Amino acid sequence: MSSVLVVEDESAIAELIAINLRHAGHDVTVAATAEQAQHAVGGALPDLVLLDWMLPGDSGLALAKRWRADPRTRELPIIMLTARAEEGDKIVGLDAGADDYLTKPFSTKELLARIRALLRRKAPNTLDDAVAMAGLRLDPATRRLSHQIDGQPCELKIGPTEFRLLHFLMTHPERVHSRAQLLDRVWGDHVFIEERTVDVHIKRLREALAPAGAAALIETVRGVGYRLTQADLPRQAA
Ligand code: CA
Repeated sequence: MSSVLVVEDESAIAELIAINLRHAGHDVTVAATAEQAQHAVGGALPDLVLLDWMLPGDSGLALAKRWRADPRTRELPIIMLTARAEEGDKIVGLDAGADDYLTKPFSTKELLARIRALLRRKAPNTLDDAVAMAGLRLDPATRRLSHQIDGQPCELKIGPTEFRLLHFLMTHPERVHSRAQLLDRVWGDHVFIEERTVDVHIKRLREALAPAGAAALIETVRGVGYRLTQADLPRQAA
């Protein structure tokens, strides 16, 4: 399930989109203005934003530009919605930082297909595809983590938060994530969670990976945060 923020001032359209997205299994928040949208994003980062170009006050275009300039929201997947079908407008929208562009009226089928394509491209951790790395295999659909022993899969015990944390790290490897970023992406609504909570779960995650000899997969980057890297793992015997 992905969280989608719908920024649309026309309530009938916003409601229709929200109903369809919820029906497709997404967790939907609706904002009617750029200000409301900024407030929503300030709480927990959504997996994707559907952003109407024409909004009262600050336009969707201005909002997309602002988000792209902020390190916290720079990677936020954005699909711009607009009634303007001119090719020039499309280019302006994409230049402002939108990842994709849909012209109204659009079909629900097309909207869902575009959302899925963008999530696959930018936030694979929100999808149910299994991820494999360093002999580990994590399957969100069955919520199982396994590793290979003599060619046989062997299940590892892992808690739900550690599972989500590992899923995020495996789908965003070799990059350093700050504790705040991990709270954003793994915990979501983290307003009342302290950053040291992340350290507790990283410790538990390493313990869960230890039986597979993969605890070193999670590297502490002093003063910054954590990174999943295969660089420090002992080489597997062939
Ligand atoms: Ca509008």
